Amino acid sequence: MSEFRFRAVEEASKRLPIEVESPGKQTSEYYGNKVFDRKQMARYLSRTTMKIITDAIDEGKTLPREVAEHVAVGMKQWSMEMGVTHYTHWFQPLTDGTAEKHDSFIDYADVPGGDIIEKFSGKLLAQQEPDASSFPSGGIRNTFEARGYTAWDPSSPAFIVNDTLCIPTVFISYTGEALDYKTPLLKALSAVDRAAVDVCKLFDSSVKKVNSFLGWEQEFFLVDTALYHARPDLKLTGRTLMGHESAKNQQLEDHYFGAVPLRVAAFMREVEFEAYKYGIPLKTRHNEVAPNQFEIAPIYGETNLAIDQNLLVMSIMDKIATKHHFKLLLHEKPFAGVNGSGKHNNWSLGTDTGIGLFTPGKTPNENLMFITFIVNAMMAVYKNNALLKASIMTANNAHRLGANEAPPAIISVFLGSQISSALDKIENSSEDDDITVEELQKMKLGVAHIPEVLIDNTDRNRTSPFAFTGNRFEFRAVGSSANCSTAMIVLNSVMAYQLVSFKNEIDKKMNSGLKKEEAIYETLRLYIKESKAIRFDGNGYSNEWKEEAEKRGLDCETSVPLVIDNYTSEKTLKMFESIGVMNERELEARNEVKWETYTKKIQIEARVLGDLSMNHIIPVATKYQTSLLDNVYKLNCVFESEKAKVLNEHDIALIEDIAVHISGIKTNVDAMVEARKIANRIENIREKAIVYHDTVLPFFDIIRYHIDKLELIVDNEMWPLPKYRELLFVS
Ligand code: ADP
Ligand code: MG
Repeated sequence: MSEFRFRAVEEASKRLPIEVESPGKQTSEYYGNKVFDRKQMARYLSRTTMKIITDAIDEGKTLPREVAEHVAVGMKQWSMEMGVTHYTHWFQPLTDGTAEKHDSFIDYADVPGGDIIEKFSGKLLAQQEPDASSFPSGGIRNTFEARGYTAWDPSSPAFIVNDTLCIPTVFISYTGEALDYKTPLLKALSAVDRAAVDVCKLFDSSVKKVNSFLGWEQEFFLVDTALYHARPDLKLTGRTLMGHESAKNQQLEDHYFGAVPLRVAAFMREVEFEAYKYGIPLKTRHNEVAPNQFEIAPIYGETNLAIDQNLLVMSIMDKIATKHHFKLLLHEKPFAGVNGSGKHNNWSLGTDTGIGLFTPGKTPNENLMFITFIVNAMMAVYKNNALLKASIMTANNAHRLGANEAPPAIISVFLGSQISSALDKIENSSEDDDITVEELQKMKLGVAHIPEVLIDNTDRNRTSPFAFTGNRFEFRAVGSSANCSTAMIVLNSVMAYQLVSFKNEIDKKMNSGLKKEEAIYETLRLYIKESKAIRFDGNGYSNEWKEEAEKRGLDCETSVPLVIDNYTSEKTLKMFESIGVMNERELEARNEVKWETYTKKIQIEARVLGDLSMNHIIPVATKYQTSLLDNVYKLNCVFESEKAKVLNEHDIALIEDIAVHISGIKTNVDAMVEARKIANRIENIREKAIVYHDTVLPFFDIIRYHIDKLELIVDNEMWPLPKYRELLFVS
């Protein structure tokens, strides 16, 4: 066997689980001890400061500068007691992951000849000015105006990693545009808060605040480090660009929910111990469908915080994986032929009075409110299905969507039979029906029964990209490596926009003399009719659905660069601007970043594929072919020609096959390089991405086909790259 591959396989197969030191305490005893949460704040801040800051968080009020000063003092004291020496503003630029630049607390004391002391002021807490010129900004910030500001987000608690206090911040340009994910997210959350409160007040005047909630389910693969290092494609692109399917992969479905392998169990335990210190309520862990694929999920929480926690968990997992001799793969489709990884975003809205707006209520009034929010969510998704798809589309996730294990690249809504029939009843109730509250109660519209029925509701359509699951919507098309913000910005924004227009409609109707309930029913009836096309309860993986969706006018585009266009359509600009989430300049700049990232990813993959083809695969195939030729030649020498011909038949066929595949690889790699050259000459970022998609990407599958065929032919001993059967099965 190829020396490198052989050593890697041997090393991986001898690996034992790593001992994990247990905290030796109940989780609740050490939970959150590395975050400056309300419990710690109460210990380190004065009562007045505490009140101002919690009001700012709960009610979205602005925080006076002098309060930041007090908070900084408390935060510094807390973190120094925890052994911290440095601090950093922790932010989410438009790259994958998070960014941080550490500064020490030390400074000279403010007296002549002063000694070194630890300093941390409100100014340092509230704002910093990192050199931002190397972060993607899509042209918002020219390099000569490198300034970018980070500003403290008090709604997400500061936390400690090793010796460093990390302060969650937004990242904006000198001219105030968002350069990150968090800024528009916070704006979207406040937009949906305002709009939803207005609608809630139609039903319940005591509602003052509506929160958006997110429960993410993080899927991932683990691969042994030794094997990972023997796969240059995995290392450089995060996925395997070649590799024949393993004879056994997920057919038996024996991995899903099976016993977690010991090495992985140790890894997961350590991830949990660590996550609990950061107040991340991990609740669920299990094997996923594909071999070596797993999932963890916390208890849901407020969206902004849940996203920070997800980012933190991804980085915690990455570090701890290394310790356990695993490489964590967050790529959406690391292996062809087995399931890819997603990150379901369970999303709901809830009031400060404790009502879940997607939770069926107990009274007719509550149920009408519930139905109102469900219908508006459906309407928002219907009107913006293309934009929602854009929010989750990336070069990586495109491999997962539309493959037969994942939602197609078409957004539809699954409601389940209970809700569907309730909507049908509303739709079919006559417009002339003089509906009074009493009658509503009598009619019940099947709605009042929902709580009891839903408890047993097990119809959970796994093929829908956007499914109602009892008290929330599950947006399943989100990719495993994504920052959930991209999906959450769009979802909360379109919901906000929709609720505003709903409220206007009701006001208009009531002004023209309709009673509130009548106005609501009339509007819902219209919405239910209008948004029918988005409802689909059937098999989302089927080909029939693609045809049907096209007929219904849903967006079926699959080219990533074109899907991205939806962010700057007139409709989208109007939507984002009117609710104050992003302006045209920001949206255009962000699209530039997206197109550029897309091009770069495809470009890197194309290069790696070319290199591996020419330097790993073809040489080995040629060597094996030579050994066959040698055999043929020698058999010819030993046996008389008729007999030799018979004996050589098999080898000759293989030699010819190999020649076909080598030539298939070589020709297509050459053509791919040519296509890249042409694409590289294109200046326009969008055009370039489109050309990369249309002319470079198609070569990947063709080249891979030939390589994977060779993998089946070439002597196993010679094959240089760890095979799927080796990568995918942790001992
Ligand atoms: P599944 O059966 O879909 O795999 P999981 O238990 O893995 O379910 O994950 C479900 C996620 O949904 C969890 O994070 C859970 O906390 C979250 N969740 C439950 N209720 C809500 C809600 N009302 N709003 C948002 N998320 C929720
Ligand atoms: Mg799950």
